[in-house]
Amino acid sequence: MRRAAASVLLAVLLVPGCTCASDSVNRGDLNLVSLDDEWSLGRDLAAEVDAQVRPLPDPVVQGYVDRLGEALVAQTEMADRDWTFTVLDDPAVNAFALPGGHVYVHAGLIAAAGGPDELASVVAHEVAHGVARHSTERMVKAQGVSWVAGLVLGDNPGLVRQVAAGLVGRGALARFSRSDEAEADRLGLDYLAAAGYDPDGQAAMFETLVALRARRPLRFERWFQSHPLGEDRVEAAEAAAEALPSPPPRPDEDAAFEDVQRRVRPFVSSR
Ligand SMILES: [Zn+2]
Repeated sequence: MRRAAASVLLAVLLVPGCTCASDSVNRGDLNLVSLDDEWSLGRDLAAEVDAQVRPLPDPVVQGYVDRLGEALVAQTEMADRDWTFTVLDDPAVNAFALPGGHVYVHAGLIAAAGGPDELASVVAHEVAHGVARHSTERMVKAQGVSWVAGLVLGDNPGLVRQVAAGLVGRGALARFSRSDEAEADRLGLDYLAAAGYDPDGQAAMFETLVALRARRPLRFERWFQSHPLGEDRVEAAEAAAEALPSPPPRPDEDAAFEDVQRRVRPFVSSR
């Protein structure tokens, strides 16, 4: 119950329901929240979130996702900032990013991915939402800059928790706009390829998600609500990947991923 509430909170908090978006990566001038403030807000929110979620108790899985995440972050313009990647003991096929470099990957996503490139494509997409600062952009547009400033500055010490409670009470799930998704896909694909993963993994992951969703719709609910996935995204991913080189086969990477997937499955299949 507590975890379900937290998921609702997160999905709403991250996407307060505005359809505005920019076409390029935000670089501070397009976003009224400074990067330092965004990272500070991220620390506060992550502390609140971490109190409500359960990490997967397997250091091998966590270590694998840490390395994968760091390899992707190293390709971004925010590589010099602190990022955290947390694997959650949660069978839902989902991943999300808080502002300020905090990415959460549900065990169900690792179990569902068709290989390391597919998993990395989703993590790259979430990293891209963070780099493009879609969450704070939407918070500012939906709530106003002074409200977000109050949240960042901690003028009202209970505001983060209060915001959390209010959003849980509202209980509605909003979604990223199509242009946010397109931007996160485009940036994510660049990070994916630059980090040495196969860019075809993005379209392949979309196909995996669509196919699996037909069988286990509930496990995919949150992902599809916050990340609308239409034919346009699949086709864009296929077309964009054609322009990027595919790496040679990497049997060690495949073996590491298979080991991780084996470790994750008991947590997912028992529920
Ligand atoms: Zn997204």
